[in-house]
Amino acid sequence: MSIAENIRGIKEKLGNRAQLVAVSKTKPVALIQEAYDSGQRVFGENKVQELCEKQEQLPQDIEWHMIGHLQTNKVKYMAAFIHMIHGVDSLKLAQEINKQAAKNSRKINCLFQLHIADEETKFGFDEQELRDLLSKGELQNLSHIVWSGVMGMATFTDDSQKVKKEFAQLYQIYDRLRLEFFLNEPTFKERSMGMSGDWPIALDEGSTLVRVGSAIFGER
Ligand SMILES: *Cc1c(COP(=O)(O)O)cnc(C)c1O
Repeated sequence: MSIAENIRGIKEKLGNRAQLVAVSKTKPVALIQEAYDSGQRVFGENKVQELCEKQEQLPQDIEWHMIGHLQTNKVKYMAAFIHMIHGVDSLKLAQEINKQAAKNSRKINCLFQLHIADEETKFGFDEQELRDLLSKGELQNLSHIVWSGVMGMATFTDDSQKVKKEFAQLYQIYDRLRLEFFLNEPTFKERSMGMSGDWPIALDEGSTLVRVGSAIFGER
């Protein structure tokens, strides 16, 4: 199957429920261009340097999403063009994104990464931790950030019931945050969940952004 066919197959199943973020990390620009030529405009990368190099070489109307863990000192390199940052998991990172967005006279769309998996290594807020920050209003005061929703990664397992439960849990956290803190912000609407192995489950559980790499471009 070609890249174009893979994308078309996934998009057909997503319908208008969720958008496809084509995860192009480690893949050469020629393959990204191939996806672009088939109509794909939204791409995700997880390393800042690789993201910046690709952004320079590829068409300027691509909407780039930063999906990986982000170090505060690297925000400045992508602040001029990044469309959405999925992995915001600290106040310090949010403050730096806000500062760099302001310098570029832009607003940057950001998602709160929530820790929903069993694995200790996965980054993200616990719900209570995030709730405490939001209660103080410090995150909402960052005027160059558009808080757009939540992101999470399920446990890496064959147990689809477990994955389903974790995505359902993320949806519920999203909805509680929305009701309590973002009721007047229609932009707080995204649930970024689902990868190559589990996006159909995520879609069933209310995903609006699936981040799919290997099922489009092949194994890394
Ligand atoms: C690599 C990556 C993906 C895509 O993974 P695939 O299994 O190749 O689809 C999605 N989300 C994040 C955060 C990633 O790092």
